[in-house]
Amino acid sequence: MTAWQWFREHASEFQGELRFDEPLSRHTYYRIGGATPLMALPKGESDLAWLKQGIEQTGVEFFILGLGSNLLVSDEGYPGLVIKTSRLDLSIGLDASSSLLRTGASVAVSSLLRRAAQEGWSGLECLAGVPGSVGGVVVMNAGTHLGEAQERVHRVGAYLLHAAQLQVWDRSEMAFEYRRHRFLPEGAIVTWVDWKITPTDPQQVKRVLDETLERRKSTQPVDFPSCGSVFKNPRATGLRAWQVVDRLGLRGHQIGNAQFAEKHSNFIINRGGALAADVRALIELAKARAKAELGIELEEEVKYLGPFRF
Ligand code: FAD
Repeated sequence: MTAWQWFREHASEFQGELRFDEPLSRHTYYRIGGATPLMALPKGESDLAWLKQGIEQTGVEFFILGLGSNLLVSDEGYPGLVIKTSRLDLSIGLDASSSLLRTGASVAVSSLLRRAAQEGWSGLECLAGVPGSVGGVVVMNAGTHLGEAQERVHRVGAYLLHAAQLQVWDRSEMAFEYRRHRFLPEGAIVTWVDWKITPTDPQQVKRVLDETLERRKSTQPVDFPSCGSVFKNPRATGLRAWQVVDRLGLRGHQIGNAQFAEKHSNFIINRGGALAADVRALIELAKARAKAELGIELEEEVKYLGPFRF
C-alpha cells in the first residue's frame, strides 16, 4: 500500500477537501510550482487529528500552507502532503470588554482589514496591503513601514500535529524577530490569533488603510505575480534590500521570464510563464554578487518548497 492509499481509503472520515495531484501553481501568488501528490484542506480540529493519524501511519512529510503569498514552489513540485489552512477557521469575533479580537488563522488579511475599517478597530493598519492569511502573518511576523504583526498579537492558538493537541501562547511566552517567530515548534498549525485593538472612528482607520494602499500601488509592481519582497533588509548595513539590488545594477535584470522589477527592485516578478528555477537563479545571482562585491549577506524573506538545484 502506498502512503497515498491510506489517505484515499480513509477519505470519508475527512470533513474538508482532499485534492490528489494538485498543481501548487494554483495556490501561490507567484503562479509558479509543480504538483503535490495530496493537498488537504482541513475544516476543523477533527480533520487535523485525522491528518496527524495519516502522517503517523504513513510517515509522509508535510508542509503547512497559508495563502501562498510568500512561497516559491519548485518546478518539480513537492513530494509530500500539503496542508492548506484556508478553510480551517474563518471566524472573526470581538470581546468588547477586553478589546481582544479573535480571528481564525484562515482569515485573509484583506478581509480582516475591510472589517476593521467598517467597525473602527484600530491597531492592524500596519498589515495594510499584506496579502496573506492571519496564520501566515503571525508565522512571518509580517509588517510594513507602519509596524509589525507582533505589536498587536496578544495570544496565539496552534494545533501541534506531532502531539495531536492544541496549545495556547500568551504574549509573554512569544518571541518574534524581523520577519520570523521564535516560539512555535515544528509542526505547529496556527489556528487562531487574539489581537489587541483600539476602538476608534471607522473613518480614521479607513483613511490610514487607503493612504497605505495607495502608496503601495504607486511603489510596487502590483500588476505582476510576485511574493512581495524577496530579501530581508540587511539592517546591520543601514541599507534596504532594494538598494543592494540597485547597487549591483540588477534592477530590471531578467532570467527567463522572471525579473527584478523595474518599479521595486526587491520584488522579483513573474512576467508570464516564469519557472521557479528562473526566480531562484536571480536570487542566487544577487546573493553571490552582494557577498563578493559589497561584502553583504542577503537573506531571503521568501520561503522555498520542494527541491531546488542550488
Ligand atoms: P504562506 O506564504 O502560505 O506561508 C508563509 C510561511 O508561513 C510558511 O512557512 C508556512 O508554512 C507558514 N504558515 C502559513 N500559515 C500557517 C499556519 N496557519 N500555521 C503555521 N504555519 C503557517 N510581507 C510583509 O511582511 N510585508 C509586506 O508588506 C508584504 N507585501 C507583500 C506584497 C505582495 C504583492 C506579496 C505577494 C507578498 C507580500 N508579503 C509581505 C509577503 C506575505 O504576504 C507575508 O509573508 C504573509 O504573512 C504570508 O502569509 P501566507 O498566508 O500567504 O503564508
